Amino acid sequence: MALIVQKYGGTSVGTPERIKAVAQRVKHWKDKGNDVVVVVSAMSGETNRLTTLINDVNPEGSCRERDVILSTGEQVTIGLLSMALAGQDCPAISYTGAQVKILTDSAYSKARISEIDSENISNDLAAGKVVIVAGFQGIDNCGNITTLGRGGSDTTAVALAVALKADECQIYTDVDGVYTTDPRVVPEASHIPSLALEEMLEMASQGSKVLQIRAVEFAYKYDMPIRVLSSFDDDENAKSTLVTREEDVMEKVMVRGVAFNRDEAQLTLSGVPDEPGVAVKILGPISDANIEVDMIVQNIGSDSTTDFTFTIHRNDYVQAKKILESVGASLGARTCTGDDHIAKISIVGVGMRSHAGVASQMFKALADEGINLRMISTSEIKVSVVIDQKYLELATRTLHEAFDMSSGKSDT
Ligand code: ASP
Ligand code: MG
Repeated sequence: MALIVQKYGGTSVGTPERIKAVAQRVKHWKDKGNDVVVVVSAMSGETNRLTTLINDVNPEGSCRERDVILSTGEQVTIGLLSMALAGQDCPAISYTGAQVKILTDSAYSKARISEIDSENISNDLAAGKVVIVAGFQGIDNCGNITTLGRGGSDTTAVALAVALKADECQIYTDVDGVYTTDPRVVPEASHIPSLALEEMLEMASQGSKVLQIRAVEFAYKYDMPIRVLSSFDDDENAKSTLVTREEDVMEKVMVRGVAFNRDEAQLTLSGVPDEPGVAVKILGPISDANIEVDMIVQNIGSDSTTDFTFTIHRNDYVQAKKILESVGASLGARTCTGDDHIAKISIVGVGMRSHAGVASQMFKALADEGINLRMISTSEIKVSVVIDQKYLELATRTLHEAFDMSSGKSDT
């Protein structure tokens, strides 16, 4: 007997039929003797619908009220799933984030979980009930409702699994696991049976959308294994992906996957003084405006000046460019330029730690296709490049092929 936390995403609970199908699956796990805690998202499209409503009424409205509204989608699904389970003679009880007491900070729309009171849940499990918890939401110290950011139900599930010391956190979604790259771009992408939490963390931060990055951070920090499975596949032996400790990964490969991100933009100040304190003068105002910076590149100076380039989310481009123009003027920079038609593409794999030449192999494959690299950055288990957005699909296919990741090659 195990304690399992399962999370079902929006498409998995998108219709009354789907909710009943989820109830059946939950009951199946319960009947096998497991304790089951279920986290659900809002029905698919619901959070977007609520966002549109908010924007139609007052797009500048208070962040507190925004979260009051956005959190309602999940409240509907917990109640419906609980009723569906009751209809199948499986005792269940639903809780909102506030009812559990999922305590967060007060950063509306991107709150972080600080503590979970697991007492109610443990008592209900001991009484033989399935416990259903609303994803994506919590409550701050003053009793305000908060939400955790889009895709935040993944984080609720992992955080609950950690708090309850669950054996596994299962994320049910509309795909049967993690692939070597997005199969919509490379149809030959291979299913990955298991990979390291650290690899998943890099893939998620480099643009893979299967799991919310904060959920993976949480799992990595607390060593909680996550299994990604499809809620649309009823086969007992259906495929899934286990994201787990590096030593438990079945197969070691040099490059696990290719991740990409189309949401970035690049900004450059050229001819800034090459002296102490310049980087903070440039990036300080950017971070004061709450704009997150991804890659940063500064050249070796010459003629006592240097060039400074960084990337940000494309949504922040206009605001960041304005800030940079005024910083550039005060520093006496030669030019301030930018481009919001770029993309970042990365290869990720823990095997890189012990293999030399992975980066050159990547650069050669891209060069052979005539793709120019605008920026390069590396970590121990990742190499990322920024390229023109129009080459993204070609670059993804090229790297997938260059590192032999197609079905039946790396994965068997
Ligand atoms: N309902 C929220 C969203 O659509 C949270 C989630 O689904 O994880 O982003
Ligand atoms: Mg999701």
